[in-house]
Amino acid sequence: MTHRKEVEFTVRQIKPYSAKVAVYGLFVVLSTLFMMATALSVSDFLKLLFEPDTPMPSQGGNLISQALEALYGWMIAQGKSTALWLFAALLIVLFFFKNLFGYLSAVVAGVMRNRITRDIRNRMFTKAMRLSVGYYSSRREGDVLSRFGNDIVEYEENVLVSIHTLASAVVTLVLYLLMLFYIDVRLTGVVLLSIPVISLVISSISHRLKRNSKEVQDQGGTLLSLTEEAIRGLRVIKAFNAIDFSNRRYQTLNHEYSRRRTAMLRRIHAASPVSEFLGSTVVVAVLLFGTVLVIRGGSMLTAELFVSYLMLFVLMLPPAKSLSTSIAQIKRGEGCVTRMVDFLEDKSIEAQDESKPAIEHIGNIELKDVVMEYPGQNSEATGVQALRGVDLHIAEGKTTAIVGMSGSGKSTIANLLLRFYEPTEGRITVDGRDVREYSLSSWRSRIGVVAQEPQLFNDTVANNIAYGMPNATRQQIKEAARIADADDFIKAMPDGYDSYVGDGGSMLSGGQRQRICIARAVLRNPDLLIFDEATSALDSESERQVQQSIDTLLHGRTAVVIAHRLSTVRNADQIVVIDRGCVAELGTHEELMAMGGIYHRMASNA
Ligand code: ADP
Ligand code: MG
Repeated sequence: MTHRKEVEFTVRQIKPYSAKVAVYGLFVVLSTLFMMATALSVSDFLKLLFEPDTPMPSQGGNLISQALEALYGWMIAQGKSTALWLFAALLIVLFFFKNLFGYLSAVVAGVMRNRITRDIRNRMFTKAMRLSVGYYSSRREGDVLSRFGNDIVEYEENVLVSIHTLASAVVTLVLYLLMLFYIDVRLTGVVLLSIPVISLVISSISHRLKRNSKEVQDQGGTLLSLTEEAIRGLRVIKAFNAIDFSNRRYQTLNHEYSRRRTAMLRRIHAASPVSEFLGSTVVVAVLLFGTVLVIRGGSMLTAELFVSYLMLFVLMLPPAKSLSTSIAQIKRGEGCVTRMVDFLEDKSIEAQDESKPAIEHIGNIELKDVVMEYPGQNSEATGVQALRGVDLHIAEGKTTAIVGMSGSGKSTIANLLLRFYEPTEGRITVDGRDVREYSLSSWRSRIGVVAQEPQLFNDTVANNIAYGMPNATRQQIKEAARIADADDFIKAMPDGYDSYVGDGGSMLSGGQRQRICIARAVLRNPDLLIFDEATSALDSESERQVQQSIDTLLHGRTAVVIAHRLSTVRNADQIVVIDRGCVAELGTHEELMAMGGIYHRMASNA
């Protein structure tokens, strides 16, 4: 089977709800039985109409018909006109239950669909969070988002709804067919034989239609590009006196296009008359054959029962039709299932290394001959590595500033320190031990990071500061805000710490947003603080203010400050100049100025 993965996926989704599936099946069966009872009652109704005085003939051992028979017998005993009223009431009751169970089955199916899509959404979100940062940089975010939007919706609307339709169509058809067989085997045999013939004819029409429509689409595209080409190249066409040539070329293609469209049109409009014609041939055949059987007598097929038979036969047509359309729908939804399965099974997830020891404290960090090449960044083709052998000592309690041109590899160092990626070569140690010896979550829990773009979530100020730390007390949150110099403006907000920041923090200024992010980084009292161009998105006045809060809070902490404006790193204990993935210069501001190299040049240009 080619679609095993897709089928397995859907089966796995439905499995937890097998009890609901059973209930659903029961409702469908009940609804169908009531519909059948209605159709069968009609024959007795007619009997009452035409031969009110004869007793009901026995219809055989079927449970429903036996029960009905007893009921009819009693009703007729009540007198003709009362019986008629009772009969009408009975029909209405039967219809009521048919529809009641139809409704219940639809609700159960809907609940299942809802739960299934809820489960999938949860699993996809969890997966999206577990995937590595590297996964997202090699893919468009839109791709991932469309898994959540289009694909899940398509899955629900095409695949799950169609499975529901298909299931109830199959159950109904089987029950109707059983009943038809029960009433008359030979007649039903004729009907059954005709079905494959009809479906063959119809599917051959629709098959050719599909092929045709693809060809027509292709040709339409060619026609359009020819037009575009001709209009763009009009100067050349005119200059080369090629107008007639161009016209002829267009007209030939256009003629062919229109011819094919006509051919397609014929088929499109043929499909429904052909199927209706074939269908009516079957109906006529059934009528003919059935009437012969009735007139000959000798079988249980009476004239009234034959009317019921025809009713049941007509009732079979809609589920038969939805059988084929729902199968087509399910096939069409295969693409979205494939995409969701691929996403859910993607292996680029971060290691689950919770079995490793947790790190107690981050002290001195050492980068040793670190080479970094991003996945998909092919250095043999481009000759580029983000980092090309970086040695760096990040001393405990000191501020290390990293400066350099854009694209030189500064953020890559931050990425490696956060263990978003593993170095391609070389290693990173903490107090002499490889960082990979410690579990990822414990490592990150000891780091506070502030990125260039302040990332706020649509929640309250307090929850934004305590993001991921639901146990933080209000006291701690306020303290962190004070350190980040955010306490004053937060208190001035309408609801203080409980004010909502809006989507992406839209209610706040850039500097305020960044200060909330700083408070968030400070709240966990991290051993290592990383600022990646945290002030570069701000105007110079807010930059100065935010920089001030950073400067005071850095005091005595281990920090890595990546900066593009040199004025902000002047006071760092050590400044590293990164140039094209290498450490070019290293020292304090004064030392680097005295060196007269890259740093000096950058400083004088600023
Ligand atoms: P900086 O922060 O100094 O501006 P980066 O460290 O972001 O520079 O980038 C260094 C180099 O690595 C650049 O050439 C950049 O194109 C490349 N790079 C950065 N991130 C990725 C990524 N996720 N995938 C591939 N290449 C990347
Ligand atoms: Mg950067």
